Amino acid sequence: MDAGKQQTDQLRQMLDQSRRMVVFTGAGISTESGIPDFRSPGGIWSKNEPINYQDFISSEKTRIESWRRRFALGEVLDQARPNAGHLAVAKLVQRNKAACVITQNIDGLHQQAGVPDDKVIELHGNTHYAVCLECGKRFELVPIRQAFEQKPHAPVCDLCGGMVKTATVSFGQSMPAAEMHAAREQTVNCDLFLSLGSSLVVYPAAGFPEIAKRNNARLAIINRDPTGMDHLADLVIHDSIGPVLAAAVDPE
Ligand SMILES: [Zn+2]
Repeated sequence: MDAGKQQTDQLRQMLDQSRRMVVFTGAGISTESGIPDFRSPGGIWSKNEPINYQDFISSEKTRIESWRRRFALGEVLDQARPNAGHLAVAKLVQRNKAACVITQNIDGLHQQAGVPDDKVIELHGNTHYAVCLECGKRFELVPIRQAFEQKPHAPVCDLCGGMVKTATVSFGQSMPAAEMHAAREQTVNCDLFLSLGSSLVVYPAAGFPEIAKRNNARLAIINRDPTGMDHLADLVIHDSIGPVLAAAVDPE
């Protein structure tokens, strides 16, 4: 079912009335930029078993495989550009409507669209750089890729010898505590929780709309398919995010 005019109007009204919104985004907003949904059926991880954090730590072979996959995906990730949905979200932040963007995505497209770094809370990290798992030193990917292409190997930190891994949260790795805390706090204090492109089935993601509703915020959901929290929402739109949100944020 496509979003009718009535639904778009209702969304626009909710955005207008909000003074402190939180935008929450999942894979659905980035598939509109051509980034595959890793977890969906037919997604990359249904063909390639995801690499578990413990396996990454314990096996050099697995680390090499993990880096090989990252570089194989590189072109898709590096060439992806923000779409109408990302741009509309950025406008909500720039107009001080949205206090922050909480995202499950690792592609950095909200920042590329113009949301300042300090307004993006990345629950699953970011795939555009790497960190040392021991000392936290940051590494850029280009030199790692160049060295990897010379000879496939797992990079180590030049400061402490620790293992270097993309700054993403892997399966089996705990959610980043500071980000989870900030996301909860923002959600408790919002008056509108706008969820875009997340199926809201897996916790802790699914918990945020519940926290928002418990604290008297309104809940609006845009997602292609039904989500686990549709029953709680004040407004549900099953449609593409870009066109619907752009029409609500910038009416003609
Ligand atoms: Zn280190």
